[in-house]
Amino acid sequence: MKTFSIGGVHPDDKKISAGSRIESLPIPETVYISMAQHLGGPAKAIVAPGDRVRTGQVIGEPTGFISAYVHSSVTGTVKSVGLRKDLAGIPVVHVEIKTEPVDEWADGIDTSDTLVTDIPQDRQFIIDRIKNNGVVGLGGATFPTHVKLCPPPDKKAECLILNGAECEPYLTSDYRIMLEKTRQIVVGAALMKKVLGVSRAVIGIEENKPEAIKAMSAAVSELQKSSADYSGIEVQTLKKKYPQGGEKQLIDAVMHRQVKSMGLPIDVGAVVQNVATSLAVYEAVQKNMPLISNTLTVTGDCLPAERQKNYLFRIGYPLSWIAEYNGGVPEGAVKIISGGPMMGKAVSNFDAATLKGSSSILYMTAEQTERKLESSCIRCGKCAEACPMGLEPFLLNKLARNGMMEELEANAVQDCIECGCCLYSCPAYIPLLDIIRVAKGEVIRAMRARTAPKK
Ligand code: SF4
Ligand code: SF4
Repeated sequence: MKTFSIGGVHPDDKKISAGSRIESLPIPETVYISMAQHLGGPAKAIVAPGDRVRTGQVIGEPTGFISAYVHSSVTGTVKSVGLRKDLAGIPVVHVEIKTEPVDEWADGIDTSDTLVTDIPQDRQFIIDRIKNNGVVGLGGATFPTHVKLCPPPDKKAECLILNGAECEPYLTSDYRIMLEKTRQIVVGAALMKKVLGVSRAVIGIEENKPEAIKAMSAAVSELQKSSADYSGIEVQTLKKKYPQGGEKQLIDAVMHRQVKSMGLPIDVGAVVQNVATSLAVYEAVQKNMPLISNTLTVTGDCLPAERQKNYLFRIGYPLSWIAEYNGGVPEGAVKIISGGPMMGKAVSNFDAATLKGSSSILYMTAEQTERKLESSCIRCGKCAEACPMGLEPFLLNKLARNGMMEELEANAVQDCIECGCCLYSCPAYIPLLDIIRVAKGEVIRAMRARTAPKK
């Protein structure tokens, strides 16, 4: 069975909410839509207090090449446009909308459930729809998808890889969409294959999701009988190993190619997109539906079984409102994570609004979050064995603590993907990830300053 060749760990997958069908959340009285939904320049709000907006209407325009449109997720009246705190407590421009209970959709959006499988042959039409509907990567990075699908002319894509690994413990939203939006995801893959001009697309799914592998394989076979546009798409079962869903790890597993230090997937002919992004591409191109919703898992060991959920949310819903709808913060929860336990971010502002890329509300217990007392490195090498980027975390830790920036760069700290495998493996409980993450940030800032054009 395929997997990546360097490092990795095997945390308990804890997919407690896997059996929960996707439920649509109702519309709250007020939503707060952030203009910073994506990597790159935040969108510029183009509505003002008092404006009535319809569901799917553009309310934020891109501000640069790497930026994306933002649309209203509801019908209602704009109450304010101003700063509001995000997940980390950082003020960001949000559009506050007092909602109406029934959607009035913007013109041209197909809200029906009809599956559209005919692939448009005009590549530019597909790109424009993806761009105009604000599609961004939903695997974590939220990079604008139309940019990623248009590599520079000197780079040639050879293979599209769809990430269906969902290797982070606890998260089950990708699993559910692979079961419930199966054919739409495959159509999305065919659309991206068309844009990239590649003949091959691989949907990589970890072995612990046999139902998803079966469903996706059946959908691929069915659609391949209907049109040649679906040829070259295949499902590959991947070994369960964290971080299988990392871009570089998936490329290694599927194409047996290594992306060089500071390199990009396209350097080795690969474009990686998440299965949720593929669904968003389907909606954008085939239904002209903007990216205003996504699926999110509410889970955690301290959450009762009947409240383990996968919800279809719209952007702008306060996390605290979703938690309240789910029955409130459960007893025993001492920390809330947005994302998985390995790469997710601690929520410091629970009133923050959902973003296009929101994937979970994960409740952690005191036992799970306890910081064990750090002791001295015993030079066991387990962190280096676990690192999927082939780094030496024990060395990076030492260099970072001594402020040795040049040496950190020489030892490729900038290649750290912040997966946490080193921290997970360390018997001395050294906070390797925290230390390396800060050092990486400083090194990358210094590298950028060196290469920035002189004013
Ligand atoms: S967090 Fe960075 S250094 Fe640690 S294992 Fe992951 S890639 Fe390696
Ligand atoms: S795993 Fe921890 S104790 Fe072992 S070499 Fe790495 S830093 Fe040192």
